[in-house]
Amino acid sequence: MEYYSSEISKLIEAFASLPGIGRKSAQRLAFHVLNMPSERVDELAEILVNARKNIRYCKTCFTLTDTDTCPICANPARDHKTIMVVETVRDLAAYEKTGKYNGVYHVLHGAISPMLGIGPNDIKLKELMVRLQNEDIDEVIIATNSSLEGETTAMYISKLIKPTGIKVSRIASGVPVGGDLEYIDEITLLRALEGRTEI
Ligand code: ZN
Repeated sequence: MEYYSSEISKLIEAFASLPGIGRKSAQRLAFHVLNMPSERVDELAEILVNARKNIRYCKTCFTLTDTDTCPICANPARDHKTIMVVETVRDLAAYEKTGKYNGVYHVLHGAISPMLGIGPNDIKLKELMVRLQNEDIDEVIIATNSSLEGETTAMYISKLIKPTGIKVSRIASGVPVGGDLEYIDEITLLRALEGRTEI
């Protein structure tokens, strides 16, 4: 790193601190930015700052949005009585990409993991229960990953919901164990959804 002046090193470090960016890529990105017209750099910086400032959780489903209520929750054509529970915003996007799911979502922002010290209070689970109390819901589809954490979370949620009498189902385990939902093809996702079973 001593080959570079401190400003350049700082820029490389900043890129290298991002997930999936190794040293080589970080250097490439840094030099790319340094060669960009300065207006383009201003624009890029502004996009980053504005996105961070304006994007927040949907007050209903907790996905990321730049409005109080996300476009899915605000859409009257969606079936608001069916809630699919997913771990991340990327999982939601994977199901949306299939274009075949017409219900709404609830994003947990994680999964219960005793090993990592992540408990029920560390994910948006209370918020789900409040929703179930205040809204008229027919079915909750649990679409957490089929990892140990995902399964633990699914069991926990189903135990919580069971006494309310609301139907709880779990997507079929056609989804590879430990597989991140976002990397699974649409057909597998649809099959998992259609083959869901009541738990
Ligand atoms: Zn929403």
